[in-house]
Amino acid sequence: MDDAKAALCKYYGYDSFRPGQEALIRAVLEGRDALGVMPTGAGKSLTYQIPGIVMPGLALVISPLVSLMHDQVRGLVDAGVRGSYINSSFSPAVQAEIMRRARDGAYDLMYVAPERLSDPAFRSFVMGMEVPLIAIDEAHCVSQWGQDFRPSYLEILEFIDAYGAARGTRPPVIALTATATEEVRDDIVRLAGLTDPEVVVTGFDRPNLRFSVEQMNPKAKRMRIASFVAAHRRESGIVYCATRREVEETATFLQEHGFSAAAYHAGLSPAERTENQKRFIDDDALVMVATNAFGMGIDKSNVRYVIHNNMPKSLEAYYQEAGRAGRDGDPSECLLLWCDKDISTCRYFIDTPTENGNLTEEQARAVHAAQVKLLNAMIAYCRTTGCLRRCMLAYFGDDVPADPCGNCSNCQGDFASIDMTQVARACVACVRELGYPYGKTVIADVVRGSKSQKVTDGGFDALPSYGSVRATASAVKDVIELLATEGVLDISAGQYPTVGLGARAGAVDAEDFSLSVKVPRRTPDAQADHLRKPGSAGSFAAVGAGAGVGSDALFERLRALRKSIAAARGLAPYMVFTDRTLHGMCDRMPSTEMEMLEVNGVGARKMRTYGDAFLAEIAAWRQEM
Ligand code: ADP
Ligand code: MG
Repeated sequence: MDDAKAALCKYYGYDSFRPGQEALIRAVLEGRDALGVMPTGAGKSLTYQIPGIVMPGLALVISPLVSLMHDQVRGLVDAGVRGSYINSSFSPAVQAEIMRRARDGAYDLMYVAPERLSDPAFRSFVMGMEVPLIAIDEAHCVSQWGQDFRPSYLEILEFIDAYGAARGTRPPVIALTATATEEVRDDIVRLAGLTDPEVVVTGFDRPNLRFSVEQMNPKAKRMRIASFVAAHRRESGIVYCATRREVEETATFLQEHGFSAAAYHAGLSPAERTENQKRFIDDDALVMVATNAFGMGIDKSNVRYVIHNNMPKSLEAYYQEAGRAGRDGDPSECLLLWCDKDISTCRYFIDTPTENGNLTEEQARAVHAAQVKLLNAMIAYCRTTGCLRRCMLAYFGDDVPADPCGNCSNCQGDFASIDMTQVARACVACVRELGYPYGKTVIADVVRGSKSQKVTDGGFDALPSYGSVRATASAVKDVIELLATEGVLDISAGQYPTVGLGARAGAVDAEDFSLSVKVPRRTPDAQADHLRKPGSAGSFAAVGAGAGVGSDALFERLRALRKSIAAARGLAPYMVFTDRTLHGMCDRMPSTEMEMLEVNGVGARKMRTYGDAFLAEIAAWRQEM
């Protein structure tokens, strides 16, 4: 374990392990299998990289995406770790050369995609090697219950067994994931063949993330995104959209207003995707507008915000995507924008069968029911008036803190809570009286006393619930949705969903029944107002563009230095130093090598490579002050 601590300091410049890391590393060093379930950004990579560094032989890391290996490994190599990867973009000659070097002991770690494990040349190479550890990153890809199922992950077990058979014994296997559900965890243990693993599940709280939820109509979303991006003009962020079209439109909108935005979705050519991804990683494009195809394995640590333009289909997916903000531990924002239509869209996707293997009818029903449940939890998160962090932690089965976090949009009360108990009762009464399933619009019309043709033709104006509430149609529909997530009403699947009574319909009759909804108090940002005025379309560009003052200004200088060093060395800026490390320099203002080494994230190797340049920049800044 002393070796592991020394490596943490020498290669990464960190002085202590984060929760969970030590237990996993210890287990692996003792030769045990291990499963680490930790949220995105918790630092799972270290738990296999460090054992790989300190154990003799070549540790194998199985990672899902070929396209990301280059980034993963170049960061390691720059920190002085003897890492390598083989992927299908290399010619056979290059692959052979890498294997030859590995045989000569040139590497401690090798990244491969699961497909590689069935390549005969690679297999015979590995069977002849001493492999002290096999790591499976993003291990939830092995499970059909996870959201990123990859059939090639199912071949990992056969490979491990074959290695064991060829060598007489197999090394410990460590599997890592951020997916917390029981089914996925069980699948990983079973399908990766983990034997009596050390299971480490860390808390899912990410204290440095601030969560906010804002409900708004689709047209307002774009403006909100632009004003948010403007207020974070010099910071890197991701905007997730549900469809390719929204990605294109949002990216174009941002570009037209002077922001450096790139787009990413499955409809772009592989070359375009790679190029845009690289621009984002290198901080050349500060905003990435993307579908959920973007992100897995992107370890960029200085993503300062993640905005969702639409409600994702589960809290699981949301937490994973939003969690890509603030991996370096610095304060970061996660903003979720949603509207009623997002719910219908999610329902539509759930109801549209996909080519998910050959599920039996029963399995398909089970999967459908599971998805409905996941979506309802997501909707509940959007609608809750309680602390968002507590809502999320409760969902993931974490210990829920006794006190609200004080650092989410609900705790900070950007909304008013309105009592809708009467409206809720009226809606349920109306559904009962109609006695036949109709859509939300009809119900809203009836309870609001509309004279629409459908209402008069149907004679619904004679129902007791007719005209019994005063509220907007959208408020009534909101209430119907809310009642559906609580099982009081039931909204059918399909293209024209209808509303019936849910299993818990009786709840509204209870005397203590109450229902409140939140309405945003926030007026659109002042910045957004500029944009609406004719002739001021470019005004976003001015916001936040000025140089900072005080230590902000030093941070900007160090950031500029980092960018130029990174460009010269062909690295991503965050690989040189993280934002957090730059902030550490601003706080400590080191003037000697010893002082510099005390900054978190400055290891011996990085001190040698970059230390002097940063010391000089700090000294120059001090002079000018
Ligand atoms: P995950 O794979 O769990 O999402 P990563 O392995 O990508 O997370 O790590 C996220 C960030 O946390 C990286 O920038 C990494 O350098 C940093 N990190 C990891 N372990 C530590 C530690 N013990 N102390 C400080 N920072 C750490
Ligand atoms: Mg990871």
